[in-house]
Amino acid sequence: MRHAQRDERVRPSHRMNDGRIFSWSDPPDTGHPGEDHNCRCEAITYVEGQTEFAFFDLATDAGSTVEHWENRDFVWHFFVGAGREVTLSEIGHLQEIIAQYAYKDRAEGAFRRLADQLADRARAGDLPYEFEAPYDFEDVAFSHGDATVRGQFVGTATASGDMVNIEGMARFGFEDRFTDPVDLREFSSWLRERPDRPWRLLQNVGALAGIGSGPQSAPLQVDENDVSSIFMAISELGGTAYTITGEWEAHFQAAVFQDRNRSHYPDPNLGSP
Ligand SMILES: [Zn+2]
Repeated sequence: MRHAQRDERVRPSHRMNDGRIFSWSDPPDTGHPGEDHNCRCEAITYVEGQTEFAFFDLATDAGSTVEHWENRDFVWHFFVGAGREVTLSEIGHLQEIIAQYAYKDRAEGAFRRLADQLADRARAGDLPYEFEAPYDFEDVAFSHGDATVRGQFVGTATASGDMVNIEGMARFGFEDRFTDPVDLREFSSWLRERPDRPWRLLQNVGALAGIGSGPQSAPLQVDENDVSSIFMAISELGGTAYTITGEWEAHFQAAVFQDRNRSHYPDPNLGSP
Protein backbone atom coordinates (compact mmCIF):
# COMPACT_ATOMS: atom_id res chain seq x y z
CA MET A 1 0.00 0.00 0.00
CA ARG A 2 1.42 3.31 -1.02
CA HIS A 3 0.71 6.77 0.23
CA ALA A 4 1.68 9.79 -1.89
CA GLN A 5 2.06 13.35 -0.62
CA ARG A 6 -0.83 15.62 -1.64
CA ASP A 7 0.98 18.34 -3.51
CA GLU A 8 1.91 19.20 -7.08
CA ARG A 9 5.52 17.99 -6.65
CA VAL A 10 4.33 14.37 -6.77
CA ARG A 11 4.93 12.86 -10.20
CA PRO A 12 1.69 11.69 -11.87
CA SER A 13 3.20 8.20 -12.31
CA HIS A 14 3.61 8.03 -8.51
CA ARG A 15 0.22 9.59 -7.82
CA MET A 16 -1.34 6.75 -9.81
CA ASN A 17 -0.06 4.39 -7.10
CA ASP A 18 -1.53 6.34 -4.19
CA GLY A 19 -3.99 4.30 -2.14
CA ARG A 20 -3.22 1.12 -4.08
CA ILE A 21 -2.25 -2.23 -2.59
CA PHE A 22 0.96 -3.90 -3.82
CA SER A 23 2.74 -7.02 -2.75
CA TRP A 24 6.31 -6.19 -1.61
CA SER A 25 7.62 -8.86 -3.98
CA ASP A 26 5.77 -7.28 -6.93
CA PRO A 27 6.26 -3.50 -6.74
CA PRO A 28 4.94 -1.08 -9.40
CA ASP A 29 7.11 0.16 -12.30
CA THR A 30 8.13 3.19 -10.23
CA GLY A 31 9.78 0.88 -7.66
CA HIS A 32 9.21 0.61 -3.95
CA PRO A 33 7.91 3.81 -2.29
CA GLY A 34 10.80 6.17 -1.53
CA GLU A 35 13.28 4.34 -3.80
CA ASP A 36 12.98 6.49 -6.91
CA HIS A 37 15.12 9.67 -7.03
CA ASN A 38 13.51 12.42 -4.88
CA CYS A 39 10.47 10.24 -4.20
CA ARG A 40 8.64 11.15 -1.01
CA CYS A 41 6.07 8.34 -1.16
CA GLU A 42 5.68 6.14 1.89
CA ALA A 43 4.77 2.49 2.15
CA ILE A 44 2.13 1.58 4.72
CA THR A 45 1.72 -2.05 5.76
CA TYR A 46 -1.68 -3.28 4.70
CA VAL A 47 -3.74 -5.05 7.36
CA GLU A 48 -7.15 -6.15 6.16
CA GLY A 49 -9.96 -4.38 8.00
CA GLN A 50 -7.55 -1.83 9.54
CA THR A 51 -5.77 -0.13 6.65
CA GLU A 52 -7.58 2.26 4.35
CA PHE A 53 -7.15 2.19 0.60
CA ALA A 54 -8.92 3.75 -2.39
CA PHE A 55 -8.07 3.67 -6.07
CA PHE A 56 -9.50 3.90 -9.58
CA ASP A 57 -8.64 1.56 -12.43
CA LEU A 58 -9.31 2.95 -15.88
CA ALA A 59 -11.71 0.69 -17.77
CA THR A 60 -11.46 2.56 -21.07
CA ASP A 61 -8.77 1.91 -23.65
CA ALA A 62 -7.64 5.48 -24.30
CA GLY A 63 -4.64 4.57 -26.43
CA SER A 64 -4.73 6.25 -29.80
CA THR A 65 -3.22 5.77 -33.22
CA VAL A 66 -4.78 8.89 -34.76
CA GLU A 67 -2.80 12.04 -35.28
CA HIS A 68 -2.92 14.34 -32.28
CA TRP A 69 -4.73 17.61 -33.09
CA GLU A 70 -2.62 20.70 -32.67
CA ASN A 71 -4.07 24.15 -32.03
CA ARG A 72 -4.18 24.97 -35.74
CA ASP A 73 -6.33 21.84 -36.31
CA PHE A 74 -8.95 23.19 -33.89
CA VAL A 75 -8.98 26.52 -35.71
CA TRP A 76 -9.07 24.79 -39.09
CA HIS A 77 -12.08 22.68 -38.07
CA PHE A 78 -13.80 25.87 -36.94
CA PHE A 79 -13.53 27.19 -40.49
CA VAL A 80 -14.20 24.06 -42.50
CA GLY A 81 -15.98 21.63 -40.15
CA ALA A 82 -19.49 23.14 -40.51
CA GLY A 83 -20.04 22.72 -36.77
CA ARG A 84 -19.56 18.95 -36.71
CA GLU A 85 -18.95 17.63 -33.18
CA VAL A 86 -15.60 15.93 -32.59
CA THR A 87 -14.63 13.40 -29.93
CA LEU A 88 -11.43 13.34 -27.89
CA SER A 89 -10.60 9.88 -29.30
CA GLU A 90 -11.03 11.14 -32.85
CA ILE A 91 -8.59 14.02 -32.26
CA GLY A 92 -6.08 11.93 -30.28
CA HIS A 93 -6.55 13.76 -26.96
CA LEU A 94 -8.43 11.26 -24.80
CA GLN A 95 -5.44 9.76 -23.00
CA GLU A 96 -3.91 13.13 -22.13
CA ILE A 97 -7.24 14.57 -20.99
CA ILE A 98 -7.84 11.61 -18.67
CA ALA A 99 -4.29 11.83 -17.25
CA GLN A 100 -4.60 15.58 -16.71
CA TYR A 101 -7.99 15.19 -15.02
CA ALA A 102 -7.19 12.14 -12.93
CA TYR A 103 -3.65 12.78 -11.71
CA LYS A 104 -2.57 16.35 -12.51
CA ASP A 105 -5.54 18.68 -11.96
CA ARG A 106 -4.73 21.23 -9.22
CA ALA A 107 -2.57 19.82 -6.42
CA GLU A 108 -3.66 16.22 -6.23
CA GLY A 109 -5.72 15.23 -9.30
CA ALA A 110 -9.50 14.77 -9.49
CA PHE A 111 -9.38 11.02 -8.76
CA ARG A 112 -8.01 11.71 -5.28
CA ARG A 113 -10.70 14.34 -4.56
CA LEU A 114 -13.37 12.05 -5.94
CA ALA A 115 -12.15 9.26 -3.63
CA ASP A 116 -12.63 11.64 -0.66
CA GLN A 117 -16.13 12.56 -1.85
CA LEU A 118 -17.10 8.94 -2.46
CA ALA A 119 -15.85 8.02 1.01
CA ASP A 120 -18.09 10.65 2.62
CA ARG A 121 -21.03 9.64 0.42
CA ALA A 122 -20.56 5.98 1.30
CA ARG A 123 -20.32 6.75 5.04
CA ALA A 124 -23.64 8.62 4.74
CA GLY A 125 -25.22 5.83 2.67
CA ASP A 126 -25.74 8.39 -0.08
CA LEU A 127 -24.96 6.60 -3.37
CA PRO A 128 -25.12 6.85 -6.40
CA TYR A 129 -23.19 10.10 -6.61
CA GLU A 130 -23.43 12.61 -9.46
CA PHE A 131 -20.69 15.16 -9.91
CA GLU A 132 -19.84 18.00 -12.27
CA ALA A 133 -17.22 20.74 -12.33
CA PRO A 134 -15.24 22.96 -14.71
CA TYR A 135 -11.59 22.07 -15.30
CA ASP A 136 -8.69 23.78 -16.96
CA PHE A 137 -7.15 21.55 -19.63
CA GLU A 138 -5.01 24.24 -21.22
CA ASP A 139 -1.89 22.13 -20.67
CA VAL A 140 -3.31 19.63 -23.19
CA ALA A 141 -4.47 22.21 -25.76
CA PHE A 142 -5.32 25.91 -25.49
CA SER A 143 -8.84 25.29 -26.75
CA HIS A 144 -9.61 22.99 -23.81
CA GLY A 145 -9.08 25.93 -21.43
CA ASP A 146 -12.51 25.72 -19.84
CA ALA A 147 -14.13 22.34 -20.17
CA THR A 148 -16.66 20.52 -18.01
CA VAL A 149 -16.36 17.01 -16.67
CA ARG A 150 -19.54 15.49 -15.33
CA GLY A 151 -20.13 11.96 -14.20
CA GLN A 152 -21.82 9.45 -12.01
CA PHE A 153 -20.60 6.78 -9.63
CA VAL A 154 -22.81 3.72 -9.22
CA GLY A 155 -21.76 1.14 -6.68
CA THR A 156 -22.18 -0.38 -3.27
CA ALA A 157 -21.12 0.63 0.24
CA THR A 158 -20.93 -2.22 2.77
CA ALA A 159 -20.15 -1.81 6.47
CA SER A 160 -17.50 -4.18 7.81
CA GLY A 161 -16.21 -3.67 11.37
CA ASP A 162 -14.86 -0.11 11.67
CA MET A 163 -14.77 0.28 7.92
CA VAL A 164 -16.96 0.83 4.87
CA ASN A 165 -16.06 -1.11 1.73
CA ILE A 166 -16.90 0.70 -1.51
CA GLU A 167 -16.94 -0.83 -4.98
CA GLY A 168 -18.40 0.33 -8.27
CA MET A 169 -18.02 2.09 -11.60
CA ALA A 170 -17.57 5.78 -12.33
CA ARG A 171 -18.53 7.14 -15.75
CA PHE A 172 -17.08 10.43 -16.94
CA GLY A 173 -18.16 12.77 -19.70
CA PHE A 174 -16.02 15.63 -21.02
CA GLU A 175 -17.59 18.54 -22.83
CA ASP A 176 -16.08 21.64 -24.32
CA ARG A 177 -17.21 24.04 -27.01
CA PHE A 178 -15.02 25.78 -29.52
CA THR A 179 -16.83 29.04 -30.16
CA ASP A 180 -16.41 32.33 -31.88
CA PRO A 181 -15.47 34.82 -30.62
CA VAL A 182 -14.67 33.55 -27.11
CA ASP A 183 -12.20 30.86 -28.09
CA LEU A 184 -10.63 33.04 -30.72
CA ARG A 185 -10.05 35.65 -28.05
CA GLU A 186 -8.50 32.96 -25.88
CA PHE A 187 -6.56 31.98 -28.92
CA SER A 188 -5.26 35.47 -29.53
CA SER A 189 -4.07 35.74 -25.93
CA TRP A 190 -2.45 32.35 -26.34
CA LEU A 191 -0.75 33.69 -29.45
CA ARG A 192 0.39 36.81 -27.67
CA GLU A 193 2.44 34.64 -25.31
CA ARG A 194 4.02 32.81 -28.24
CA PRO A 195 5.38 35.48 -30.57
CA ASP A 196 6.67 32.97 -33.13
CA ARG A 197 3.25 31.43 -33.80
CA PRO A 198 0.86 34.14 -35.13
CA TRP A 199 2.37 34.57 -38.56
CA ARG A 200 2.73 30.84 -39.11
CA LEU A 201 -0.89 30.30 -38.12
CA LEU A 202 -2.17 33.01 -40.39
CA GLN A 203 -0.17 31.57 -43.25
CA ASN A 204 -1.82 28.21 -42.65
CA VAL A 205 -5.37 29.50 -42.31
CA GLY A 206 -4.92 32.28 -44.82
CA ALA A 207 -3.40 30.13 -47.52
CA LEU A 208 -6.25 27.65 -47.20
CA ALA A 209 -8.89 30.36 -47.23
CA GLY A 210 -7.30 32.22 -50.13
CA ILE A 211 -6.04 35.25 -48.25
CA GLY A 212 -2.49 36.35 -47.78
CA SER A 213 -0.18 35.44 -50.61
CA GLY A 214 -1.36 34.03 -53.91
CA PRO A 215 -3.24 35.34 -56.93
CA GLN A 216 -6.74 35.33 -55.33
CA SER A 217 -5.59 37.28 -52.27
CA ALA A 218 -8.38 39.02 -50.40
CA PRO A 219 -7.57 42.65 -49.59
CA LEU A 220 -6.98 41.93 -45.90
CA GLN A 221 -4.36 44.12 -44.31
CA VAL A 222 -2.44 42.08 -41.78
CA ASP A 223 0.48 43.18 -39.68
CA GLU A 224 2.22 40.00 -38.56
CA ASN A 225 3.49 41.75 -35.42
CA ASP A 226 0.01 42.80 -34.36
CA VAL A 227 -2.01 39.97 -32.87
CA SER A 228 -5.28 41.91 -32.94
CA SER A 229 -4.91 42.50 -36.68
CA ILE A 230 -4.37 38.76 -37.15
CA PHE A 231 -7.37 38.06 -34.92
CA MET A 232 -9.54 40.37 -37.02
CA ALA A 233 -8.35 38.75 -40.23
CA ILE A 234 -9.17 35.32 -38.88
CA SER A 235 -12.59 36.52 -37.65
CA GLU A 236 -13.47 37.81 -41.11
CA LEU A 237 -13.17 34.29 -42.47
CA GLY A 238 -16.24 33.29 -40.46
CA GLY A 239 -16.58 29.85 -38.93
CA THR A 240 -18.92 27.59 -36.98
CA ALA A 241 -18.76 26.70 -33.31
CA TYR A 242 -18.50 23.01 -32.46
CA THR A 243 -18.60 20.74 -29.45
CA ILE A 244 -15.79 18.47 -28.27
CA THR A 245 -16.87 15.47 -26.22
CA GLY A 246 -15.22 12.48 -24.60
CA GLU A 247 -16.13 9.58 -22.36
CA TRP A 248 -14.30 7.17 -20.09
CA GLU A 249 -15.01 4.78 -17.26
CA ALA A 250 -13.08 3.73 -14.18
CA HIS A 251 -13.61 1.00 -11.62
CA PHE A 252 -13.37 2.25 -8.03
CA GLN A 253 -12.51 0.17 -5.00
CA ALA A 254 -11.94 1.38 -1.44
CA ALA A 255 -12.10 0.61 2.25
CA VAL A 256 -12.34 3.67 4.51
CA PHE A 257 -12.97 4.21 8.22
CA GLN A 258 -16.62 4.81 9.09
CA ASP A 259 -15.39 7.56 11.45
CA ARG A 260 -14.28 10.35 9.08
CA ASN A 261 -12.08 11.88 11.82
CA ARG A 262 -9.90 8.77 11.69
CA SER A 263 -9.89 8.66 7.91
CA HIS A 264 -7.34 9.71 5.28
CA TYR A 265 -10.37 10.12 3.00
CA PRO A 266 -12.52 12.97 4.28
CA ASP A 267 -13.75 15.50 1.73
CA PRO A 268 -12.53 18.88 3.05
CA ASN A 269 -15.13 20.72 0.92
CA LEU A 270 -18.00 18.40 1.76
CA GLY A 271 -19.17 17.59 -1.72
CA SER A 272 -18.02 20.45 -3.91
CA PRO A 273 -15.74 19.08 -6.63
ZN1 LIG B 1 7.02 8.90 -5.10
